[in-house]
Amino acid sequence: MQEQDFDIHNSAVERDGDYERALRPGRFEAFSGQDKIVENLRVFVAAARMRGEPLDHLLLHGPPGLGKTTLSAIIANELGVGFKVTSGPVLDKPGDLAGILTSLDENDVLFIDEIHRLSHTVEEYLYSAMEDYRIDIMIDKGPGARSVQLSLSPFTLVGATTRSGLLTPPLRARFGIDCHLEYYDHEVLERIILRSARLLGVKCSGEAAHEIAMRSRGTPRIANALLRRVRDFAQVKGSGNIDPEIARYGLEALNIDRYGLNEIDNKILLTMITKFRGGPVGLTTIATALGEDPGTIEDVYEPFLIKEGFLKRTPRGREVTDLAWRHLGLDNPAVTDGLFA
Ligand code: ADP
Repeated sequence: MQEQDFDIHNSAVERDGDYERALRPGRFEAFSGQDKIVENLRVFVAAARMRGEPLDHLLLHGPPGLGKTTLSAIIANELGVGFKVTSGPVLDKPGDLAGILTSLDENDVLFIDEIHRLSHTVEEYLYSAMEDYRIDIMIDKGPGARSVQLSLSPFTLVGATTRSGLLTPPLRARFGIDCHLEYYDHEVLERIILRSARLLGVKCSGEAAHEIAMRSRGTPRIANALLRRVRDFAQVKGSGNIDPEIARYGLEALNIDRYGLNEIDNKILLTMITKFRGGPVGLTTIATALGEDPGTIEDVYEPFLIKEGFLKRTPRGREVTDLAWRHLGLDNPAVTDGLFA
């Protein structure tokens, strides 16, 4: 693809103002990474299309910003059906759910984000909708109350969650396909950054994309956000093009952690080191010390820290690695003691 010169006024994306949507891949081809999942989904989508049936209900779980919404929209696109988006906390009452379900056309995809936050009542209504494409709604209250059964068009529910552990077993059992999205490798993030740069109409070198990828916490959403910030630095302080120097300059100025760790990641490591000498320490103890929910630490923060080698799980609890001590600029007594032993 030919690279364009950077021109803020000629960029369709810039005019649109909605970067997230503009950078979102619309087809499987443009979606990088998560190879195994994509490979399987392509087969399931093709099979559903051939049969003219809705795709099985699909559960996508994994940390935020890894592409759950994007993948769902791609699925609808590839199926050639409509796509509706809502979220667990928005579906407050059964009537809200009934409203959205009855608006679906045949084989449409309904995406419910944060599905673990659905209320119990709404969740129970969802069961029959998922299983038999019907929903029983209570009309009126008191003696006049009666139940009305509404038939629904066959549809696919895509549920997304960062906290799959919070899903009730009956809900989980109703999903025919279950996919866990993993953090992205640096090489894949580089590809995503270069694609986004092209869409934003800014020249970005491979090496600069590498610098940005390294600090993106394995997350495409963060990679795209950093790219846009670095682009600002390139425009104001540089030539407009993103080269490694301006990328490093921008990332330093933004105070982005060298390994892409965020504030809470660093707080977890620092707390474990300062309060528990680096562990081993139990998850609940760490969570209490931080005033965080243990499940959130386990599902959202810990997987990245483990993947990048800052933390390990041992039979006696969580332990930080030597890399974590060095990253925080602290001396690991285990290593220093070892030196003088
Ligand atoms: P989630 O729903 O998991 O929080 P999103 O689907 O909203 O994440 O993704 C966040 C942004 O990251 C999207 O706007 C999209 O541009 C980008 N993105 C996510 N996954 C990919 C991918 N595999 N390839 C390219 N861009 C991606």
